Amino acid sequence: MRGFGTPSETLLAVDDAVAIVLDQIKALEAETIPLGEVHRRVLAEDVVAVADVPPADNSGMDGYAVRAADTPGTLRVMGDLPAGRKSLHTLTPGTAVRIMTGAVIPAGADAVAPVEITDGGAQSVHVREAVKPGAHLRRRGEDMRKGSVVLPSGTPLGAGEVGVAASARRATLKVTRRPVVAIVATGDELAPVNEADGMSIVDSNSYALAALVEEAGGIARRSPLVRDDLDATTAAIEHALDADFVITTGGVSVGAYDFVKDALERLGAQMHFWRVAMKPGKPVLFATVRGRTFFGLPGNPVSALVSFTLFVAPAIRKALGQSTAVTAPTVWMKTTARLKGADGRRAYLRVHVVSRDGVLVAEPMRSQGSHVSTSMVKANGLAMIDGDAVEAGGVVPVMLIGAVSGS
Ligand code: AMP
Ligand code: MG
Repeated sequence: MRGFGTPSETLLAVDDAVAIVLDQIKALEAETIPLGEVHRRVLAEDVVAVADVPPADNSGMDGYAVRAADTPGTLRVMGDLPAGRKSLHTLTPGTAVRIMTGAVIPAGADAVAPVEITDGGAQSVHVREAVKPGAHLRRRGEDMRKGSVVLPSGTPLGAGEVGVAASARRATLKVTRRPVVAIVATGDELAPVNEADGMSIVDSNSYALAALVEEAGGIARRSPLVRDDLDATTAAIEHALDADFVITTGGVSVGAYDFVKDALERLGAQMHFWRVAMKPGKPVLFATVRGRTFFGLPGNPVSALVSFTLFVAPAIRKALGQSTAVTAPTVWMKTTARLKGADGRRAYLRVHVVSRDGVLVAEPMRSQGSHVSTSMVKANGLAMIDGDAVEAGGVVPVMLIGAVSGS
């Protein structure tokens, strides 16, 4: 049997550890995929407008295309113009064309009188108020100008961006490929979810981490469970190295049966850091192994999820091509209960962030033990405490890790 490992005395500050991680990560290669699949990817090329959008001046309202100088007044209606139909008329003084939103403005017209300021007539129309030249016109090229960059390379593609790419007539886009993330759970006590019996602990980390990997934009691949044995741990990590990132859980502390660090040394890994000044999650290992990125996360479910959120999620986002805003946002808010610090380490306490009368507040989970996985249920924030404690009603920084809903 082995003895205990020797813990190093100096712990790395969380922010320094995050900087070390991000420094090692580069965007992966690009691939070209159909527009329908680009949501949540990051652009790896500039999208340029190939034509003016809109392609011609058109109406912003249902109403009448007019000559502004003729308003107010009664005008002869020369015809009807639904969206998508081209006008055959040219307006002469005293005439109008009934027009629908989006229809191209007929020649001679310089404004649209909305139907609301008219009597809505079909043969002739009375326009009650004066309209200014240019009123309710959407100008050609107002949205996009032919030749202009409408989405620069590096843009994360949300709904708005996907719509703009479609308007720029792009059926495919070049985006950064998603990192494949292998998840390797270690521990003699663990059993797969469908084989657990009396004394076993279900491997829940693999599933929760796989969900977080997908949320961050990666492709999760769960590996078989690994026993607490140096050969088995080494072989499992080596096998997982065909992924871009490898994450292990458990076996990374100083226990006599913690083999992740030794396995990495056997594989010739370059260690970047091992222990971080945070609670939960102190034993977190970050290394490069044969060109792959390796994270050794602790086994306790809360520690695993918190350390993933702090270190792995930003790394996945950067690999995905994102260059800014790779870490979760922090917002200051009041806590509804006392939050206790962690003696020189930064405490990350699970809270439920809710909107109360238009103001965000943090409701701490009742139990904060790193083994209490149910404390992650409904947790959409991590309150960060650097000092001793913050009393109820005090203001704390909260990292937002999930959607905030109303009360
Ligand atoms: P370790 O970091 O290996 O010392 O693990 C600490 C504790 O975390 C173990 O005693 C287990 O109770 C728990 N644990 C480790 N791995 C997992 C896992 N994959 N799923 C759920 N709990 C785990
Ligand atoms: Mg273990």
